[in-house]
Parts: sequence; C-alpha cells; structure tokens
Amino acid sequence: MRTVRSIRTMQNISRDLAAEGKRIGLVPTMGFLHEGHLSLIGRARRHADVVIVTIFVNPAQFAPHEDLNKYPRDEKGDLKKIKAAGGDIVFIPRARDIYPEDFQTYVTVENLTRTLEGTSRPTHFRGVTTIVAKLFNITRPDVAVFGMKDYQQAIVLKQMTRDLGYPVKYIIAPTIREKDGLAMSSRNRYFTPKQRPEALCLYFALRTAREMVTAGIKGTARIEKEMREVIKATCPTAKSDYIAFTDLTSLEPVTTVKERTVCSLAVWVHGVRLIDNMMLSGGPPGS
Ligand code: AMP
Repeated sequence: MRTVRSIRTMQNISRDLAAEGKRIGLVPTMGFLHEGHLSLIGRARRHADVVIVTIFVNPAQFAPHEDLNKYPRDEKGDLKKIKAAGGDIVFIPRARDIYPEDFQTYVTVENLTRTLEGTSRPTHFRGVTTIVAKLFNITRPDVAVFGMKDYQQAIVLKQMTRDLGYPVKYIIAPTIREKDGLAMSSRNRYFTPKQRPEALCLYFALRTAREMVTAGIKGTARIEKEMREVIKATCPTAKSDYIAFTDLTSLEPVTTVKERTVCSLAVWVHGVRLIDNMMLSGGPPGS
C-alpha cells in the first residue's frame, strides 16, 4: 500500500493506471476510520483493480462554529485499517495544496442542497461538492463509493457527478451500525460511556417509524410525533434539528409514506450533532 501526499504525484499515478487499463475505485473520507468506511473500501474493491482511499478533513465543509479543529484524527491507525481492508493507495493531501491562498472556485448543486442538512448548514454542501470534484479531477476514478449514512450528501454528489459529466460509476453503500443500532460515525467518540446509550435516540426513533409503517400507519405527522416521544424518552436533553420524510432521490417532502420514502433526522445529543436515516418502505432495514 502506498501513501501519497502530493497532488501532482497522485495525478501522475492515476494517469499511469488509466493508461495501463486499470479501473480505479475511489473512497473519499475524513479519516478516523470505522467499519462503515471500511465497508466502502470492500465495495470499491469489487468494482475496481486499484482502490484509492482519501483522507482529508475538509475545512470548506465546516462552518466557523463547527468542530473542524477538534474533529478526531488518527492517521497511523487509519493506514493500518485501510491496508487490512484492501486499499491500495491512500491519498492524504495538505489543506494548503487543496485550498491555496487565492482559492476562489466552488462547485454548487442548487435545489437538492436547500433542504434538510442545507437548512442548518448552509455552506456545508458547497464544501463537499467542491472537494469531491477536486478529488475526482485528481484521481480520475472509474467507480466512487459513498455511504447512505450521509444520505443527502450521497444524493447531492450523485447529481453533481451526472451534471458535470464525470464518467464515474456511482455506488451508494448501506449504513453500517454498531450491534445496538447506533450508526457508526467518527463523531461517536465524543460521547462519554454514560452519554453513549442516549445517542441511540436516533436509531430508536427510526426503528419506531419503520415499525409504524409496517403496521400500516403511513401519515408522517403521526409518525413524527411518536418519534419525538421516543427521542425524549431515550435522551431527555436531546434537541431535534429536523425530522424529515422525503423521496429517496428527489428529496421532495412527503406527507404519506410511499415506496422509496426515507426518514432522516438530525439531533443534538450532549453537544454532538448526529444524523441518521432509514428507508421506511422499499428497502432493507437500516439501509
Ligand atoms: P466521513 O469520513 O464521515 O466523511 O465519511 C466518509 C464516507 O463514509 C462517506 O461516504 C460516508 O457516508 C461514509 N460513512 C460514514 N459512516 C458510515 C457508516 N456508518 N456506514 C457506511 N458508510 C459510512
């Protein structure tokens, strides 16, 4: 496995791989890897000859008041995990190379970024689409894998891939959860052992929603009310940012659960903003 920090070197490697006819798989991450990230590497492996994993805590997707500086990092541990998971190249660019001082070009997806996460984090997706466009340009992947865990991000990036005409096979992989249901996230490490069980409020609420739908209750207002009760019972101090019911790909809100309706939510749990989502019908549980 090779670690690359220079953009120029990465570009040269990608160009040579393409010339040799090798299919390149890309898995962009912000590091501090867990099994969710590693599952994406496994997915990429199945579709590519060479898997490139990127580690970059992207300043452009954090607002000034967010957790950029305390975002957890463990480069040494990440390299070991990527090697064991079958990654071939780890690209760890420097922030000053990605965003030189006079940087002023951004990629923006319009409508899909105006709801859900975009409401609370208005500059977030611009940062995400810009960095992924740059990573696509540098690594020139044939396949790229993103997690359903960040559902809106996956849909926004899919739109960007299509709109800008990147010749990239786009894969959205299911959310990997802890045994008790908590969606794996680098941010879970912020919780003390005492706070950790309360982080389950998102999963419990989503599970309740899915159970209600299975029982024939399809009205989202009623489901949302029940979800709020579950959140309060699991974590009395939790503050919900949003609970939304949307179509899987258009992100249009629905008032009645249909095929391909996704419930997504963002909740503040002991000062940590967690997000999670679940297909309520027409998909595997927890996906
Ligand atoms: P991050 O490092 O949080 O930017 O995530 C990098 C990629 O891993 C994104 O495509 C995420 O959606 C994906 N990811 C994060 N957590 C999970 C999870 N629990 N299961 C599957 N994919 C995940």
